[in-house]
Amino acid sequence: MTVDTVLSRLDMVKSAGNDRWYARCPAHQDKSPSLSIRDTGTRTLIHCFAGCAAEDILAAIGMTWRDLFADEWQAAHEAGIHQKVKLPPLDQLALERRIIDIAEADLRAGKSLSTEDVARLEIALERVKGAA
Ligand SMILES: [Zn+2]
Repeated sequence: MTVDTVLSRLDMVKSAGNDRWYARCPAHQDKSPSLSIRDTGTRTLIHCFAGCAAEDILAAIGMTWRDLFADEWQAAHEAGIHQKVKLPPLDQLALERRIIDIAEADLRAGKSLSTEDVARLEIALERVKGAA
């Protein structure tokens, strides 16, 4: 997912220069653009100044944190290839651990996991257990 995909799903997008934009926040009744979007090159950062959760904003435009996360992972992986930097063999395991961490943080925050999330979490737990 690129920042263009995010911007194409938002209203009242205004450039703020240097890979930054403002847009109407899709997660609340936003009269003036209070959603900040930033493209760091490897991931898209979104922030609502009215305090909406990133997950709610993503959900409102039909995306999940996995879209952002997958892109970051892909970019890191590609950067590793292009710079001919050998990624440590534990990278896949680190990704699985991070998935578990995110799921645990969601659960601790009182959020429920979707069936898809639970299925992915089970795969991650199995892989981490298998590697141990
Ligand atoms: Zn908002």
